[in-house]
Amino acid sequence: MNFNLTNFSTAATNQDETHVKVLILGTGPAGLSAALYAARAELEPVVLAGMEHGGQVSLTYAVENYPGFPEGVGGTKLVELFQKQAERFGATLEYDTATEVDLSNRPFRVRTYNKIYLADTLIISTGATPRHLDIPGEKELTGRGVSYCATCDGWFFKDKDVFVVGGGDSAVEEGLFLTRFARSVTIVHRRDELRAGAVLQKRAMENPKIHFLWNMVLTKINGTEAVKSVQARNIQTGEESQLPIDGVFIFIGHTPNTEIFDGKLEMEEGGYLVTDKLMRTSVPGVFAAGEAADPHYRQVVTSAGMGAAAAIQANHFLDEVAEEEVKDELEAAHS
Ligand code: NAP
Repeated sequence: MNFNLTNFSTAATNQDETHVKVLILGTGPAGLSAALYAARAELEPVVLAGMEHGGQVSLTYAVENYPGFPEGVGGTKLVELFQKQAERFGATLEYDTATEVDLSNRPFRVRTYNKIYLADTLIISTGATPRHLDIPGEKELTGRGVSYCATCDGWFFKDKDVFVVGGGDSAVEEGLFLTRFARSVTIVHRRDELRAGAVLQKRAMENPKIHFLWNMVLTKINGTEAVKSVQARNIQTGEESQLPIDGVFIFIGHTPNTEIFDGKLEMEEGGYLVTDKLMRTSVPGVFAAGEAADPHYRQVVTSAGMGAAAAIQANHFLDEVAEEEVKDELEAAHS
């Protein structure tokens, strides 16, 4: 496969250039675990927080399946602890975002809003963004009753009726969270069985506030200042109906945040970065971890593990490069 590795021009900018051994993109569980491991290897990593510090887990009310927290832990709290631990060993977090990368030569050039980084190795842990339904009214009413984050917006639906679209873990988990506020939560799913895990399913089925609309898809969201109703279609009968509702929460999966690597790194369908078992991407010295490279597990624990592995491999890569350089110098001295 041919990749377009075109240099971006730096001639016209006055931006500072900062040389780092390890540059990590993203501060979710993958990025901050990579930062911890790279820092403990004394590589003084710099971590760019990107547009959403902490990634998706920071918007999660409670994480109940990350080992070491038998009572569960808040998503924001967990990110705070990850960050504190990485910083304790010398990682530096910058509230900045990578906007352009040049991977054609090492050090890699990464342009951000504030400067240009010259990175000996790069760890991409840019995570993923919630997928949209792409139906009329969705975009217009986002923030006015349409939401992709129960933790952020649940409070606005106190004693109201809401729909939750999707049948996976996210939909059910967020639906359960919404029962704290809403009068009723109806999970609208396009099939007649949930994809979510057994524990979450059982909790949802037993919760008196949760109802289900099976084999149903939304085709339009209606309202001007706020959501008033939705149009829905039963995919078995084809029957269309208009259903009054106060809010629509959408949890139908994610798209990886990998656009800036388009044409520069090998990707699989859907934009997920291709890595081998050692977290290596198609460019030597560039590693990827977490949801940007993981369409399968997408768990805090797996992302953290991938981040740690990527940092270990970045360290090995730098050792190998240093060894090569010494060998070349010796050869040159003897020739
Ligand atoms: P997911 O597992 O991919 O589920 C997406 C759901 O949305 C599916 O039920 C799918 O229906 C439905 N869907 C997709 N496109 C749709 C469309 N255009 N219209 C209507 N429905 C649509 O995504 P997720 O729930 O965000 O979970 C992602 C990963 O994170 C999973 O691996 C999950 O296990 C993990 N996760 C784990 C936890 C936890 O362990 N507590 C919490 C959250 C997420 P179909 O079922 O018909 O495909």
